[in-house]
Amino acid sequence: IRLLTIESTCDETAAAVVDDELNVLSSVVASQSHLHDRYGGVVPEIASRAHVERIMPVIEQAMTQAGISLADLDAIAVANHPGLAGSLLVGLIAAKTLSFAHNIPLIAIDHLQAHIYACQIDSGRNVFPCVGLIVSGGHSNLYRCETALDFTPLGSTIDDAAGEAFDKVASMLGLGYPGGPAIQKAAEQGDPQKFKLPRPLVDNPERLDFSFSGLKTAVRYELYGPGKINPGARVDLNPQRVADMAASFQEAVVDCLIAKADLALEKTRYNRLCVGGGVAANSHFRKRLEADAARVGYELFIPPLKLCTDNAVMGAIAIERYQTGLFEDLSLDISPGLVRHTVARLSESG
Ligand code: ATP
Ligand code: MG
Ligand code: FE
Repeated sequence: IRLLTIESTCDETAAAVVDDELNVLSSVVASQSHLHDRYGGVVPEIASRAHVERIMPVIEQAMTQAGISLADLDAIAVANHPGLAGSLLVGLIAAKTLSFAHNIPLIAIDHLQAHIYACQIDSGRNVFPCVGLIVSGGHSNLYRCETALDFTPLGSTIDDAAGEAFDKVASMLGLGYPGGPAIQKAAEQGDPQKFKLPRPLVDNPERLDFSFSGLKTAVRYELYGPGKINPGARVDLNPQRVADMAASFQEAVVDCLIAKADLALEKTRYNRLCVGGGVAANSHFRKRLEADAARVGYELFIPPLKLCTDNAVMGAIAIERYQTGLFEDLSLDISPGLVRHTVARLSESG
């Protein structure tokens, strides 16, 4: 069984060919981040236009790399939920068109389930049931994952997503976009204890939610002083102060994520944690998770970096749908969902 998988939920245009043993026959990811970086976040209109330009070349490249033709495909799968509406539409229309024109079965992919499924693809083992933690630019969610296709939400962020906080704090520190890798790098030279930042909700054993907005504000007050920001204000951004703030902020985010992952494992009594999304690429977070898994005694699954950020390989979750006969017809629509994204604000970026 061979599937073409298509991913266009946010700002990566991606396609892959995978088989039912989870072999990756090809994988192509066209990033758009250079189109968005000057705005400090993803601009939805720019994203959808860029998807339109890239989608067919990316699909063709994935097919060529795999060395097969459309006639060899058993299904075409596309992520239709959640994401930016205009971005999702481009992938969906490409998938539906190819499915109709070549008479190939169509399958829907839940992008969040796919992020967790990356752990299954990478490890080659059955990772379910598990607690799923998705931390990306648009999400900070905890799930009870009974099977690959059966997720129950346990908690999520009540304001900003973790990646969004990384991006905004990086912008305050003058580190550019995307902020996650920039903060990680700056933090290497910094003291994580230098600034006392809050760990919102961590002390509340009743809640499996996150809150990163207050943490972001705490960084802002530390840098600019409390109150309204005067755009002309001089801020001390010497490299050591930036490094210390990056390290202190990163430590606080990681503390929050790990505390709630531990609580979710305790409440579900599961002993496996699967982590996905762009923030899972953070090297400090990965180290802390490994130490936590050893301390608490659970099994940790965390994919390599290229399977943490958006990609089409994780769309191999569609194999699970193929095997249960979960096919779609041409009425399949997008379901953007309540996705919060680091959408650029022109006034902040100058
Ligand atoms: P979605 O939320 O819909 O999955 P997305 O495109 O926002 O979509 P990803 O591509 O998975 O999500 O992740 C991007 C986010 O991950 C950005 O906010 C980025 O700053 C963050 N990120 C990437 N690398 C790192 C890192 N090393 N450390 C911390 N954050 C990182
Ligand atoms: Mg992305
Ligand atoms: Fe994603």
